[in-house]
Amino acid sequence: MAKKSNRIASFLSARRRWVQGLVGAGIYAAVSVLGISLWWVLAAGAAVGLVFGKVFCRWACPLGFFMELLTGIGGKDSKFQQMYQYHKLGCPIAWASGALNRFSLFRIRLDEKSCAECGACDKACYLSSIEPAKYSLYKKDAERPGEAFACSKCLACVSSCPSGSLGYRPGVR
Ligand code: SF4
Ligand code: SF4
Repeated sequence: MAKKSNRIASFLSARRRWVQGLVGAGIYAAVSVLGISLWWVLAAGAAVGLVFGKVFCRWACPLGFFMELLTGIGGKDSKFQQMYQYHKLGCPIAWASGALNRFSLFRIRLDEKSCAECGACDKACYLSSIEPAKYSLYKKDAERPGEAFACSKCLACVSSCPSGSLGYRPGVR
């Protein structure tokens, strides 16, 4: 039976676009209506990265929300997809929080004892499915995609695990 953290991850993962749209709208309103400085947004995005890693891009960014809409319309090979990648390359929040994926308090963590090595998590992850020789969420000698710069904490890996062996949890290592 799936663990509680797995069920919460599934619930959130299925509603990520809504969360991103709502939080993104709040940030946009704070900047454009209330006149909050963008520097505060940058500082907050990087500070959140210390605790949660690179969550801003896929859970809070107003630009990311629209870019994902456009790439969804245009498909994987569209110009919008290239624009989205360029946009992320130029974003200081993405750089800071992506670098913190290795050190953040919350990370994608594996319970090796309960893992059945079924491979469902690797198929669900956009990093390990693109580079299976490099990344894996469970194979011993592979790099963990959750600690890579590009992992934006979509939680697809956690919600795909049938045994609840993966969790997005705090820990010391
Ligand atoms: S989906 Fe879960 S049980 Fe299957 S390999 Fe990944 S961590 Fe292990
Ligand atoms: S949270 Fe990171 S490791 Fe998990 S599926 Fe998404 S990109 Fe892959």
